Amino acid sequence: MNHSTLVTLQDLVKQYPGSDTPAVDGLSLRIREGEFFGFLGPNGAGKTTTISMMCGLLSPTSGEIWYNDISLKQHPTACFQLIGFVPQEIALYENLTIVENVRFFGKMQGLRGAHLHKRIDECLEVVSLSEHRTRQIKHCSGGMKRRANIAVGILHRPKLLLLDEPTVGIDVQSRNMIFENLRVLNEEGMTVLYTTHYMEEVEQLCSRVAIVDNGSVLTEGEPWELLAQKPECDNLEQLFLALTGKQLRDR
Ligand code: ADP
Repeated sequence: MNHSTLVTLQDLVKQYPGSDTPAVDGLSLRIREGEFFGFLGPNGAGKTTTISMMCGLLSPTSGEIWYNDISLKQHPTACFQLIGFVPQEIALYENLTIVENVRFFGKMQGLRGAHLHKRIDECLEVVSLSEHRTRQIKHCSGGMKRRANIAVGILHRPKLLLLDEPTVGIDVQSRNMIFENLRVLNEEGMTVLYTTHYMEEVEQLCSRVAIVDNGSVLTEGEPWELLAQKPECDNLEQLFLALTGKQLRDR
């Protein structure tokens, strides 16, 4: 695995207007090229806010984000070329077919002509949707919609794919399919940052993890390494609860 740093988050802070406490509070992290990185934390820990800043959807109150030593603040367009984003919500047009959606977003990303068509075919193949390409989104299952969302995120061949809970509310078969799709993309060289609440997913997929709470990183490392530091924990779920507590995080 190539160990050069792809993403650097340095002392990131985000304070929403009108809020007493920062949602992200001095968060620092490095993600290396080729990693399948699990970004974990309970509800309200600051994961979505961090990912939104990494995609340029939100501006940090302070702190810096670099991709390959390129500052997101100074060179946003160059950074956006490097990243693909798969949001929590399905971001597709219900009345359009899968392929019409993917084509639309491809054009929005500046892809055109034969290159666009080739990428559409390749990406639908990666997420196993080629045979359903002419189905309207409103007639797709939750798992198919999420895979179509992933196809949109990878069209421009990003170096880093950011996924915010891509397997929430879908059946086991679809989850499995998404794992396989992401594993293939990662093996082909795409760095993946993945948030989830399912620790068994992390154990299956992630080469390194960070556990965050209250807007900062509690611990990070390879799963085995973190477990070795806490011998009383048998698995990641126990470690997660030991670090973040057992109280409910209802919001
Ligand atoms: P996570 O993704 O880990 O569940 P979030 O980043 O969504 O966490 O939220 C972190 C904190 O910021 C929470 O306390 C949440 O209530 C607050 N928050 C999130 N979005 C907003 C917003 N738009 N305005 C004010 N507070 C927000």
